[in-house]
Amino acid sequence: MTVTPMMAQFLEIKSGYRDALLFYRMGDFYEMFFEDAVNASEALDIALTKRGKHDGEDIPMCGVPVHSAEGYLLTLIRKGFRVAVCEQLESPAEAKKRGSKSVVKRDVVRLVTPGTLTEESLLEARRHNFLAAFAEVRDAQALAWVDISTGAFHVMPLSPLRLGPELARLAPSELIVSESSEPGLRETAEDFGIALTGLARSAFDSTGGEQRLCALFGVSTLDAWANFSRAEVSAMGAVLQYLDITQKGQLPLLRPPRREAEARTVQIDAATRRNLELTQALSGGRAGSLLSVLDRTVTAGGARLLERRLSSPSRDLDTIHMRLDAAGYFADDNALRQKTRDQLRRVPDLDRALSRLSLDRGGPRDLAAMRNGLTQAQHLRQDLQTGDLPSLQQAAIADFDGHGALIDLLDTALIAEPPLLARDGGFIAAGLDEDLDEARQLRDEGRGVIARMQKEYVSDTGISSLKIKHNNVLGYFIETPSTHADKMLSAPLSETFIHRQTTASQVRFTTVELSEMETKILNAGSRALEIEKRLFEELRQAVLSSAGPVARTAAALAETDTAAALAELAVAENWIRPRVDDSRCFEITGGRHPVVEHALRQQSGEPFIANDCALSAGGDDAQIWLLTGPNMAGKSTFLRQNALIAILAQMGSFVPAADAHIGLISQLFSRVGASDDLARGRSTFMVEMVETAAILNQADDRALVILDEIGRGTATYDGLSIAWATLEHLHDVNKSRALFATHYHEMTALAGKLTGVENATVAVKEWEGEVIFLHEVRKGAADRSYGVQVAQLAGLPPAVIARARVVLDALEKGEREGGVTQKTLIDDLPLFAATPPPPPAPQKTSELEKTLEDIHPDELTPREALDLLYKLKEAA
Ligand code: ADP
Repeated sequence: MTVTPMMAQFLEIKSGYRDALLFYRMGDFYEMFFEDAVNASEALDIALTKRGKHDGEDIPMCGVPVHSAEGYLLTLIRKGFRVAVCEQLESPAEAKKRGSKSVVKRDVVRLVTPGTLTEESLLEARRHNFLAAFAEVRDAQALAWVDISTGAFHVMPLSPLRLGPELARLAPSELIVSESSEPGLRETAEDFGIALTGLARSAFDSTGGEQRLCALFGVSTLDAWANFSRAEVSAMGAVLQYLDITQKGQLPLLRPPRREAEARTVQIDAATRRNLELTQALSGGRAGSLLSVLDRTVTAGGARLLERRLSSPSRDLDTIHMRLDAAGYFADDNALRQKTRDQLRRVPDLDRALSRLSLDRGGPRDLAAMRNGLTQAQHLRQDLQTGDLPSLQQAAIADFDGHGALIDLLDTALIAEPPLLARDGGFIAAGLDEDLDEARQLRDEGRGVIARMQKEYVSDTGISSLKIKHNNVLGYFIETPSTHADKMLSAPLSETFIHRQTTASQVRFTTVELSEMETKILNAGSRALEIEKRLFEELRQAVLSSAGPVARTAAALAETDTAAALAELAVAENWIRPRVDDSRCFEITGGRHPVVEHALRQQSGEPFIANDCALSAGGDDAQIWLLTGPNMAGKSTFLRQNALIAILAQMGSFVPAADAHIGLISQLFSRVGASDDLARGRSTFMVEMVETAAILNQADDRALVILDEIGRGTATYDGLSIAWATLEHLHDVNKSRALFATHYHEMTALAGKLTGVENATVAVKEWEGEVIFLHEVRKGAADRSYGVQVAQLAGLPPAVIARARVVLDALEKGEREGGVTQKTLIDDLPLFAATPPPPPAPQKTSELEKTLEDIHPDELTPREALDLLYKLKEAA
């Protein structure tokens, strides 16, 4: 069997990337073969063709043009593929020099995976793209994560139990685990929709990891940063190893790793995070999440920082106060805030531009982003430094400065709006480099000369339709319609004009003069390009040598944007600065749910009813509100709004309330709503119990717990007993601050028994047999649950509602009189069949009613129905 040299090369390279699609560069296309071609053509919906044979069978093939490859890459990555990009490392001419049969040298230059993207078009500007690794060394575990598009690098020790919550918080797009890791770990990752990558155990070796870290950061020991555990070093080392594999040795600019202490942020488990819809709505996506109403940032870096803050509210009072001070500073001064935001709007994504430049994937536009961003930072410094700044802003503006030389360099070097790619040139400003100016002049003059030549040839030949054109095959050529062929091909014109090509309607020529000019233009053009490439590299190095300070400036800009955006929100939405201290207070006056309020405003224009909440716990007592009230009254909304206010306060934001006093919260738990987790074979009730167990096992006296209708998914008495015991446990053992919503009115009796439990209810009004929701939370217990009325509102058939009222009356009567067993209750209840039929409808006498009687809607055409309607209206 013979294999062509090219196919042999393909197979050899492919053997190193079995679990990725191989983009094999051939000229202007990336081609895929065999299985890859079949999979990719299906995923991309492009034509599957064939090329040659292998083992006697056709080789399936498909391809995408290089210039539009990014779009295809994005689709493939989103569909869960990885792509190995294999480039030509020499030109066909160079290959020929090595021997007539040589195939162009090729190799994979990059493995594209969800966690290692850097291209603007492949990333969401306003979100981080984390790549994480989970490592285990003996009994210790750690999680490390990077965003190579911004250079952020973090690590934290972590128990396997905390893996889920942390993955929920960070939402990495890819998780690296050891190939020998437990299946349970994989399941966790899959639950969160994270792409999982298994690496050989050797990649997790902590000694090797330490060496890689030291080499990357040019240090001899890691102790300068922190006293990392072996598990932490192993996780960080695995990240670096994977970057090495995917970036083929071209490591991105990473900042030195920072340990994130678990104790510094509010612990929020995955279910709570999901239920509270912090950064993502339950329906998926950002719309409807707290983040979507919160985000007023105007830069991509600011948006990413805001999301990070919201995902990780702080537990450190100083940090919280500093952030609140910064937001307050901008909230107090409308003019300054607007001016600052206007300036920030012009700030490009410095982090990502820097990262692309460091990976040599950047272009002139990334250099321009540097110039524009750093210049803007300088302006901001001038505007801000006059005021009496809070400490965070003081620190930020210190980082705005110090790029004078780099800005000057980029300013003189670049044109105002450079193109995306360096390879076509045309981005270096005139006047920077004499050689470049000269080469460009030659090239441009040459073009002028060609235009003059065309005029001359027209007058020499007398053919006014003669044109000088250019294409990639012939270069410059002279073209006349074929009607002039004879004239051109005979003397004397044939002495000057050399025939090159005849097409259907045209004849093409060249002249000695024209080819000489062409060579000059080409030489000057490629010389200009070369000089531009060299200058690009010089500028790139200049930027990279200030990478550290540039990254700090980017961070300071994001910090400023976040503070100004939170201030903007506070002013526009009338939010106030919360008081946060280390008491065990939880005192909210006039609190609102920001997302529901926003939705109401957009949908119905109805006002949101503000409500108070007071859970202040004294000494080491618990403080719990037991909330009763009918469905739809607003219980869940109230529960959630208080949790959200706590999160907002501790992330350093103002809050939607008239006043708020919050003693630091260390953990936030919620058990709200219910959804089946059928994929894992868990019923609603099971999910609920698992989540409740997690709360009771973990919550402490600094936790805030939100429990909504637990015990709903089982028989009444089971549910009531579980809810009852849970409340007692929270009160006696966990001693947390908690809001407990229930539809078991029996539980309101607990308020008299447990000192820290108070009853509250969401008020409704009854009017002509219907309920009206007031959405007002008041002290006290609900008198009834109004379930039947709510069902009526929902449109249950009148017969069912009437019957339900009869059953309810009987049940309540039985309860009141005591000692009535369910059996007697049921016996006492008139059977459905035995209920007196509804009184016969009064005799229908009127014409109108008779007509109505005769109408059979199912038999009418829409047209007939419409006609009938008109007729009825007339009759009425
Ligand atoms: P429950 O949990 O008691 O069944 P929800 O909290 O789901 O009730 O609220 C039902 C609906 O009532 C919400 O979707 C919202 O539109 C409205 N609502 C709730 N609270 C308020 C409020 N404080 N002000 C105005 N409307 C509210």
